[in-house]
Amino acid sequence: MRKNYLLTPGPTPLPPQVQEAMARPIIHHRTPQFQAILKEAQEGLKYVFQTKNDVFILASSGTGAMEAALINLLSSGDTALIVQGGKFGERWTEIAKAYGINSEIIDVEWGQAVNPLDIGKKLKGNPKIKVVFTTLCETSTGVVNDIKAIGEIVKNTQAVLVVDAISGLGAVDLKTDDWSCDIVVSGSQKGLMLPPGLGFLSVSQKAWGLIENSKSPRYYLDLKKARKALEKTDTPFTPAITLIIALIEALKIIKQDGLENVFLRHRKMAEATRAAVKALGLELFAPSAGSDVVTAARVPAGIDGEKLVKTMRDTYGVTIAGGQDELKGKVIRIAHMGFIEEFDIIAGISCLEKVLSVMGYKFNLGSGVKAAEEVFLK
Ligand SMILES: *Cc1c(COP(=O)(O)O)cnc(C)c1O
Repeated sequence: MRKNYLLTPGPTPLPPQVQEAMARPIIHHRTPQFQAILKEAQEGLKYVFQTKNDVFILASSGTGAMEAALINLLSSGDTALIVQGGKFGERWTEIAKAYGINSEIIDVEWGQAVNPLDIGKKLKGNPKIKVVFTTLCETSTGVVNDIKAIGEIVKNTQAVLVVDAISGLGAVDLKTDDWSCDIVVSGSQKGLMLPPGLGFLSVSQKAWGLIENSKSPRYYLDLKKARKALEKTDTPFTPAITLIIALIEALKIIKQDGLENVFLRHRKMAEATRAAVKALGLELFAPSAGSDVVTAARVPAGIDGEKLVKTMRDTYGVTIAGGQDELKGKVIRIAHMGFIEEFDIIAGISCLEKVLSVMGYKFNLGSGVKAAEEVFLK
């Protein structure tokens, strides 16, 4: 027997209430019973998204919601501005390419946050830009971007602001309406503490203006169809019924704790993790812009990063993430989002120490755990 710990930036662990909800018998979706569930999900999502606008629920992973945002806003030949500072920023560029959108790219060095003023400059320089695509938390590098400042700049232009908040929503603050975010995209398996399979999008009035005119081919992901159905508290196709029932349980937990407390918990988990890896002599990958969602740290010289992650998982049951693409083998990523508490972090750091020690890395055994405990005792 072995106990497993999941400290990855998606999927994240499931609270027991969420797991229990998924074991219930299936119900039919064209029923008053499911309508009540959909209504409750809408209200809960609006609370977490901090919006008064509709939030659409798709049966897809987060990327499906990204694609839905892009194809509903833009037509082939249109121009978009994309902030690219890691693997998930690049995903916007790839989707844009697939649909014949011209991309202006702000290439941000991996590990850095975008300078919001650069977005203003680009928008001024090219009035053809219809949409700005950004990322709240760039999960590949651990960086959090200043969406509030970006929203301040974009709101005074003709452009629509889209935020990929797949890994930040329900973990760090994102005031969709107050910060003028037109479309916020998210997914179920990160801060929302659900299994993968749901995508979400909130849509502002300004965004609907573009959606009315977009000519990109679409059928399943057509937001106009989704809006028409939602007006009758319905969905255009069979929704992921069981996941939506589980969603309500997750939203209840967030509501009961209160968003502010949820953010504070994430901050504490992140501070403890950052303190621990630094105490072990590991360098933070994003020292100035690290998020409270996931911490990326450089693998010390002489240590095989892929083997480190693999050994933690296969020998001790503690799953963290390695680096992607250019960071493969060079960083480890420890997620602290969703249903994660103090002793999950302690277990994760303790395992990291054990494997680093076995691999011959020299440090004071226990120094990482001690640093984390000191943060928790504060
Ligand atoms: C996980 C993640 C995605 C991809 O979501 P999928 O659910 O795997 O499609 C996109 N963007 C960010 C920032 C993510 O963390």
